[in-house]
Amino acid sequence: MKIALIAHDKKKNKMIELAVKYREVLAKHTLYATGTTGTLVMGETGLNIIRMKSGPLGGDQQIGSMIADSQLDLVIFLRDPLTSQPHEPDISALLRLCDVQNIPLATNYRSATIMLKALDDGLFDKEL
Ligand code: PGA
Repeated sequence: MKIALIAHDKKKNKMIELAVKYREVLAKHTLYATGTTGTLVMGETGLNIIRMKSGPLGGDQQIGSMIADSQLDLVIFLRDPLTSQPHEPDISALLRLCDVQNIPLATNYRSATIMLKALDDGLFDKEL
């Protein structure tokens, strides 16, 4: 499966925590991330991650383009709902495309945990 990891600045620690906790699960899949998130997660976990541009510089649009082309199976996007983002239109577009393409999307730590547990349990392989 192809999984995208994105975290806003105030959620990057939570993304690292998640990636460390589910390192073995994530290691079985092809991982993509926006620039800074990818660099931090790779540094902390040693996971191999294909990095896009940083989110504010177009990384969210690059991930969005992959979603539009059905090239991603799961998006974990730990958003900061309390800070305004300069690239808000790109974020909205990415989230919208997940719904257009029916791609599983987790936008907070607990939903991401449930997704990764489901992935580990093989739920993604089943016809739902
Ligand atoms: P970043 O981008 O991983 O490069 O910080 C995330 C975002 O803000 O969308």
